[in-house]
Formats: sequence, C-alpha cells, structure tokens
Amino acid sequence: MKTLVLNAGYEPMSVVSFKRALVLVLAGKANVLEADAARPVRSEQLSLDRPTVIILTRYVKPPSARTAALSRRGVLRRDGHRCAYCGRSAATVDHVMPRSRGGANSWTNLVACCRSCNSLKGDRTPEEMGWSLLVRPEAPDAGRFWLREVDAPAEVWAPFLELGRAA
Ligand SMILES: [Zn+2]
Repeated sequence: MKTLVLNAGYEPMSVVSFKRALVLVLAGKANVLEADAARPVRSEQLSLDRPTVIILTRYVKPPSARTAALSRRGVLRRDGHRCAYCGRSAATVDHVMPRSRGGANSWTNLVACCRSCNSLKGDRTPEEMGWSLLVRPEAPDAGRFWLREVDAPAEVWAPFLELGRAA
C-alpha cells in the first residue's frame, strides 16, 4: 500500500511508500489526511494508522513546473507502450528523425515503437516511409508523470486526484 502526498495547497504531488510517509509525518513535515485504520503500523513504541493520504505542512514548488527526466522507459510509459506508427504493443523506442541524420535525443524526437516498425524504418524519416505519427510526442511534466506511475490508484485517493486535476 502506497501513500499519496499532497502539496500544502492540496495538489497531488507524488506517491511514496507508507514508511516514507510515516517518516515525513513523524518529522512534522506532513499531516495525515486519510489513514487505513484497519491496517495499523506497529512498532515497539507506537501503533499508528497506516497513512493513505498525507499533506505537506509547507508549500513546495510544484513538480509540474519541471520536465520529467528523459528515459527509454519513460518514453514507453508516456506512449502507453503502443507503437507510434502502427499502434501495436511496443517494447523499443525510435528516433523520429534518426540519430544518424542529426535527430536529437529528446522527448519530442523519441516515440515508442514496435520491433517490426523499428527495423523497417531504419535510418529513414516517417515521411520517407509514408508513415504518420499516431501521437504527438511531447515532454511530460514531472508532476503528472509521477502520478501516472501508479497503475492502480487507491480508491481513497480519488477525491484528491480529482481536486488536483481541477486546479
Ligand atoms: Zn509498429
């Protein structure tokens, strides 16, 4: 069970292990908003409800102002593991403008790509192949990207995530 961390302004910020959440709470850096009383955390000294949502006591600069760090895994996740050319399941990434022709190693020049499209395309551009991109590759912002890492958001988080989306 993971814990949702909200910024002091209630914006969803990140997801951490409940242990990390407890450390923040015990250090006075966060307060518990929601807890799972059915599954307390026990140690020799204390017994605490397991935090499911915590809120930081001090406002920190929202991570959405930053761009997520580029990675092969991140590109695949951004594109939902779907090939940007044919829509099938993708396990590799492709430089839209090939590296050999000056294509950058960047969020906007990398897309998820299935093996067969990747080997067919080689050092050519989508235009040369007569292909079009099914997605417009963009750099995801770090904040939302963080939350997308949670494949199955806990039910108790839902109202807080909605709030963040509206903000
Ligand atoms: Zn493909």
